[in-house]
Amino acid sequence: MKLFDYARSARAADAVRLVAGHPGGAFIGGGTELTNLMKDGVLAPDLVVDVSTLALADVGMRRGRLHIGATARMSDVADHPVVREQFPVLSEALMASASPQVRNRATIGGNLMQRTRCWYYRDIGSPCNKREPGSGCPAIEGQNRWHAIHGGSDHCIAVHPSDLAVALTALDATVLTLGPDGRRSIPVEDFYRLPGTTPDRETALRHGELITGVDIPEGGPAAGSRYLKLRDRASFEFAVVSVAAALTRTEGVVTDVRLAFGGIATRPWRSKGAEAALSGRPLTRATITAAGKALVEHAQPREHNAFKVELVQRALTDILEDLGGRA
Ligand code: SF4
Repeated sequence: MKLFDYARSARAADAVRLVAGHPGGAFIGGGTELTNLMKDGVLAPDLVVDVSTLALADVGMRRGRLHIGATARMSDVADHPVVREQFPVLSEALMASASPQVRNRATIGGNLMQRTRCWYYRDIGSPCNKREPGSGCPAIEGQNRWHAIHGGSDHCIAVHPSDLAVALTALDATVLTLGPDGRRSIPVEDFYRLPGTTPDRETALRHGELITGVDIPEGGPAAGSRYLKLRDRASFEFAVVSVAAALTRTEGVVTDVRLAFGGIATRPWRSKGAEAALSGRPLTRATITAAGKALVEHAQPREHNAFKVELVQRALTDILEDLGGRA
């Protein structure tokens, strides 16, 4: 691992100033992601600014919104009574992530900044446009079982890895930041970028801009929300496909529905087409099937991941049946 300097700030503004003033600077929270990437030589910051002790760990309702501070630990958020009772999709997504040890250490902000699990990205002997712009994307013609069927480009087809981000997408969450130019509130759907020609730029964050928390609107279908994750083994594994679903029915008719998906796209994938197929209709076998077809209508499967096209439709069916649909 390359040598680096370490600093810890008592105030968020100081941490931002330190990283913003240092081109090779990076924030570190729980350290469960960045240190692995540093040890593997994938990332090599020369200054690491520890934000784990900033006073940003509060969780609770604020003016009709659930606020989750960026340095709150995953396990604390998953176990918070308001989260479990009013936003179950969040609690389920967090509990389906990583291992108990990692959840006790990792922060919410760090979870949102996870890097892809594409093995070419994490193998510094392989070319990779995301790690080394312009070097190529071996996944497109290579081993792409884990890769995206939505949102890819000729430059990158890596899937986004965070379960939490998928749940937040279904809840219309907002990412709160503090940067050198002040505070910003960024809708989570705008926070993650499609790879396009610049897959190395994954988020809307500017250099030195720190995630301070997330806000989630109260009410709507959040209380009836669920998260379903399908993976190759029962724990400590990333999603092959996942679904975050939140819906409200009135007299049997779907009046509010939000569907987001993980494991199939280059960013947390909201499917407005699938939502439209359900909205204003009863939850029946026919409407659920129509939603699944809309979800995969423009999918672009590759040689080894075509199975995701059917698997994600089955996952959607399962979760909608769990929420009260009839197959
Ligand atoms: Fe790199 Fe993206 Fe291609 Fe994976 S899919 S090798 S992360 S450019």
